Amino acid sequence: MSVVDPEIASAIHAELERQRNNIILIASENFASRAVMEAQACVMTNKYAEGYPGRRYYRGTACVDVAENLARERCKKLFGAEHVNVQPHSGTQANMAAYYAVLNPGDTIMGMNLSHGGHLSHGSPINFSGRMYRIVPYSVSEKTEMLDYGEMLDLAKQAKPKLIVVGASSYPRIIDFKAVREIADEVGALVMADIAHIAGLVVAGAHPSPVPYADIVTTTTHKTLRGPRGALILCKEELGPAIDRSVFPGTQGGPFMHAIAAKAVAFKEALTPEFRDYQFQIVKNAKALAERLMQNDFDLVSGGTDNHLMLVKLMKEGLTGKDADETLEKAGITLNRNMIPFDKAKPLITSGIRIGTPAVTTRGMLEPQMVQIADMITEVLRDIKSEETVRSVRARVKELCDQFPLYPDLPC
Ligand code: PLP
Repeated sequence: MSVVDPEIASAIHAELERQRNNIILIASENFASRAVMEAQACVMTNKYAEGYPGRRYYRGTACVDVAENLARERCKKLFGAEHVNVQPHSGTQANMAAYYAVLNPGDTIMGMNLSHGGHLSHGSPINFSGRMYRIVPYSVSEKTEMLDYGEMLDLAKQAKPKLIVVGASSYPRIIDFKAVREIADEVGALVMADIAHIAGLVVAGAHPSPVPYADIVTTTTHKTLRGPRGALILCKEELGPAIDRSVFPGTQGGPFMHAIAAKAVAFKEALTPEFRDYQFQIVKNAKALAERLMQNDFDLVSGGTDNHLMLVKLMKEGLTGKDADETLEKAGITLNRNMIPFDKAKPLITSGIRIGTPAVTTRGMLEPQMVQIADMITEVLRDIKSEETVRSVRARVKELCDQFPLYPDLPC
């Protein structure tokens, strides 16, 4: 490739170096294994396979059928699900297909408010979901900054939703899927759990599973699940045909068979005891990082974390999320600005940052390194104008990264 396209080869090489030499704390990112990346870069990218294994609209699909069948079987085993569709290209497309399977335009969805932790595809007015459906957003409690299932029930009784979407992009606490099922049953609604962020935790048992309670479960495959970029949908047997029709031909064309092969590899990895240990370590690391930040006098949304992420409020420091993520990036610490519940700042500015531990845990970092990272974040944020501090932290970040090599044998 470097001969055909040196510019792209050089951008890829620079990206590898960036991933190696920075501390990545973006809660939705991870480092897929070499095996997953090899599968994703394979010849199956060349194959059209509209339809499903055994029911394709193209010839020559025997080999990709093997991959999709393995992906489906492993995925069902992983989540204990009755039916799975592994074709969605992304989390947003999985959600679109799930809605399309059970709703009509104009139906009511209750979804978590974007600024309280929900995702764009849970009903934001600037997303297809907010334009196609009537959205009634639910919020976290102002007092606890956690979900209040009593308030959710009251709202559901008024809103009479056809679907309650539960799941989040920036919510640091356990989600009580059973409570949401009970609320839905009281008002005759369906439940869709979007576990994009916590899927790895769920399969390991580090977070309760929604599978026994939700009618539909969607997830991306590239976050805590540590697979290729993509998504999947799980559902009860009886919804299977509607979900499958909704993915293809409803909202997608040909599946990305190379990505499905890579999903199969990731599911195989996720079925191992090492993966289970990894997920529990993500949570231990998040707790250690959160504890240290609180010892260093930062305020965390809801006062801590139960999962892989935390949200730091920066109002007391007089900083914005934008100030923080820009300066931390210069120091080699990559994370993102994030709205916090009841934020008064604009989405591109924000009053908080989101910090996640899946990627650093994949590198092998443990609690002592989390304490070091929390202290480095503190140093930069307490002295945000100092170029000297940025330089000194940058050097320590590099030392830490060198102790935990990433893709050491990747020829690039
Ligand atoms: N759902 C949740 C909860 C997410 O956090 C995300 C992405 O961050 C998505 C869906 C969308 O995934 P994608 O970016 O693959 O469309």
